[in-house]
Amino acid sequence: MDALTGLPEATIIRDRESMEPFLRDESHLRGVPPLAVVQPRGAGALRELVRRAKAEGFGLVPRGAGTGKAGGCVPTEGTVVVDFSAWPGDIRVSPRDLCLSAPASAPLREVKAAAEAHGLFYPPDPNSWESCALGGTLATNAGGPNACKYGMTRHWVLSVDALLDDGELHTFGISSVKANAGPALGQLLIGSEGIFGFILGATLRLAPLPREYATLLLPVKRWEDLLDLPGRLSGAGFLPSAFEFFDPAVLAELRAHGPEEARRLPGEALAILEFDERGCTSEAFLEGLQDLLGPVADGLEIASDERQRQGIWAVRRLTSAFLKERHPGKVSEDIVVPRSRLRDFFEGLGRLGFPSVSYGHLGDGNLHVNLLAAGETDPAILDGQLMDLFRLAIRLGGTLSGEHGIGLAKRDAFLALSDPGHLHALRALKQALDPQNIFNPGKVI
Ligand SMILES: Cc1cc2nc3c(=O)[nH]c(=O)nc-3n(C[C@H](O)[C@H](O)[C@H](O)COP(=O)(O)OP(=O)(O)OC[C@H]3O[C@@H](n4cnc5c(N)ncnc54)[C@H](O)[C@@H]3O)c2cc1C
Repeated sequence: MDALTGLPEATIIRDRESMEPFLRDESHLRGVPPLAVVQPRGAGALRELVRRAKAEGFGLVPRGAGTGKAGGCVPTEGTVVVDFSAWPGDIRVSPRDLCLSAPASAPLREVKAAAEAHGLFYPPDPNSWESCALGGTLATNAGGPNACKYGMTRHWVLSVDALLDDGELHTFGISSVKANAGPALGQLLIGSEGIFGFILGATLRLAPLPREYATLLLPVKRWEDLLDLPGRLSGAGFLPSAFEFFDPAVLAELRAHGPEEARRLPGEALAILEFDERGCTSEAFLEGLQDLLGPVADGLEIASDERQRQGIWAVRRLTSAFLKERHPGKVSEDIVVPRSRLRDFFEGLGRLGFPSVSYGHLGDGNLHVNLLAAGETDPAILDGQLMDLFRLAIRLGGTLSGEHGIGLAKRDAFLALSDPGHLHALRALKQALDPQNIFNPGKVI
């Protein structure tokens, strides 16, 4: 493609076979072949790309590690994929400022490890933390199991380095939790899914590293009992740093077909709870917990060392990949409802009458509802099922995505179900920041 000839500081991939992996992410969607894949190594490449995209009318699709579940980084018609995996920069920890700066290309696992090497903690923990890139987590405002205590990625971002439609590099924010000189523009980029510009790096807030963990495997006798537990725990003064669950159907699949460690799992349904505050391994703390959990538990396992803790978490971390391997055409949603409406949600889901299985982040009401038979379902019927699911979540005060974002996968539903005022404001922002619609066209809005 002529428009990319002589692009500085970049590798350009154009042959169909090498571009194939860039057509997909971890959603069920496949993009169209892009005009090219560009791997920039300096601001000069991005500046030129933006200039040429505006002049030639092609779009720019930012890509991190491609682990997204909403089709956000898959190419649409007439676009160039901008793969940030070669973007330069080091991870630098500032213990005195309790912060860390890192480039968009940094693997999240390295960001977390760099903080830990200084006895510090970067909490965001999407279950893809071993494979996703920091830039992708910023652009999707990733959450994870510990969001129920620590919040999402945006709660840990102090400043953002970004390149916008003017082709220039800007830093939004400072390395301090207190900064109130006007609206926080950096936050506008967090969760923007690449539609406002390129995120090149960020400065992230850190916390002291937790020193003890109480990790519990909680099988329950009756699945419904699990649904009141998040509220009952907070009512009793307990704040888990993670509260994950598997409904009876997911548990049965894991038991019947999962790896060795999953086959022994007891109960009608199952939860994993973790606490990380000082004193959480004390007898008094655990006794208090047991008093609360005992009546609903069907046996309770408490990890007594790091190996056992990792064993409990391994089951959770493998669930998504396991279900995908068994049901390659499945569609996995990530609706969210207020925790007080969990029971109402599952009753409503039952009434919708289509088969689904659920697991995920019960502690913050973010549920991965999986339609395992999606691949064999008529697309029009599937669309109807998904819309019913989203409407149910919205009716209960929730929304259609708790963490994965809108991307391409949920765009139609987002446009159909969102408040018109919300869409109007979002379109006005997009028009102001990207008037020629070069950044991730066809996504979100
Ligand atoms: C097994 C598994 C478990 C997961 N668990 C979770 C979970 O618990 N919580 C959660 O939130 N997500 C989860 N995800 C989804 C995904 O991993 C996260 O959304 C992650 O943050 C995406 O990072 P990435 O680098 O792969 O981004 P990509 O998939 O490459 O991109 C995601 C979006 O960000 C945009 N983007 C990427 N880089 C940039 C950039 N530099 N500038 C501007 N825009 C950019 C893309 O255009 C796209 O819209 C999971 C995925 C898998 C496969």
